[in-house]
Amino acid sequence: MPKVYSHALNETTEVERIIDHLKGDEGGPTVIFFAGIHGNEPAGIFALKHVIRELKLRQKSIHGEMYAIAGNLRALERNVRFQTEDLNRIWSPDRIDEIKGKEEQGTDEEKELLALYALFNEILEKSTPPFYFIDLHTTSSETSPFVVLNDSLLNRKFAMNYPLPVVLGIEEYLVGALLSFINELGYVSLGYESGQHDDINAIKNCIDFVHFTLALTNSVNLSKKELTALKNGVMNSSKVSNKFYEIYYQYDIKHGIDFKMLPGFVNFQEISDGENVALENNAILKAKGRKQIFMPLYQNQGNEGFYYIRSIPKILLWMSKGLRKIKADHLLVRFPGIRWESLQKDALLVDQRVARFLAKSIFHLLGYRARQFDKTHLVVKSRETASRNKEYLNTDWF
Ligand SMILES: [Zn+2]
Repeated sequence: MPKVYSHALNETTEVERIIDHLKGDEGGPTVIFFAGIHGNEPAGIFALKHVIRELKLRQKSIHGEMYAIAGNLRALERNVRFQTEDLNRIWSPDRIDEIKGKEEQGTDEEKELLALYALFNEILEKSTPPFYFIDLHTTSSETSPFVVLNDSLLNRKFAMNYPLPVVLGIEEYLVGALLSFINELGYVSLGYESGQHDDINAIKNCIDFVHFTLALTNSVNLSKKELTALKNGVMNSSKVSNKFYEIYYQYDIKHGIDFKMLPGFVNFQEISDGENVALENNAILKAKGRKQIFMPLYQNQGNEGFYYIRSIPKILLWMSKGLRKIKADHLLVRFPGIRWESLQKDALLVDQRVARFLAKSIFHLLGYRARQFDKTHLVVKSRETASRNKEYLNTDWF
């Protein structure tokens, strides 16, 4: 059985793909936690084991089911982010088809994907909705805990219940993230980053987060007092105000570039115009304008150097909700240079030479994820059409 070591605890534990599976006598939701999709992030594994031990000790029965699943087993054992390629960048439908169709042995990560994919489908088949998918991570920089998700109204509505900063729009920058794959199938799915990889607080925060999630999804019953205490614990874990943020820039580390983040940046830190940020082949990279830095990279593996984020004004959140509900996007095809790209009417092809006036931010507002198709065309895909709102109708938070 693979062994996983925690620097924070100086402790080793053994894990299997299914860390544990709890099933209550009463019906309820199916809550699936993933941990260690990145092998150098064992905090989630230790946190899940702790929570399950606690639930069993207190003989707390749960409603529905809870799965705790280990991600990149081979990388976890070696305490590296990945072996051949990032397991959290290969979950695009095309890539999955390609991996499934391979006759020869795949890479380590392809094998991990196949095992996780089979398990994912088995759970969807055997268990009952509503389904919640939660992916537990940690970061290489120091960070206050936060939630990250694909921007669908369903996801937003669920995430609003966490007293934590919520970061939207990662799917526009990361191709093949596990959570995007699941979200595009219409399920509630969110990521939680609990702290720095080897910080003991990352485990502690994660334990509270898992308990809180189980309460939020009605998997466990808590008294009002217990719930308030838990919520305060989650809230106090973060020093960053619990607003919605959007990512608007990603620094890609190009092949052959020696990138090094300058030391000392913490996640969500505000930086001033002209501030030195990183080294690019030993040349200094400066911030152009005042920025708020997100996920600065302080490890050898990974292709994203850092991001910039900004908080989203409440009025915009409210407007986008209204516009999406009335399906304002269906008016867009009346404009020149815009047409449906798919029969399902969930993607638009935008000719930027004609529809010059429509900025990406308008598509974001309407619930679309934008990707540059070629020099002059943008493909924007709706994040709303797939949402399985009906399956969540009877939940307390909905
Ligand atoms: Zn991670």
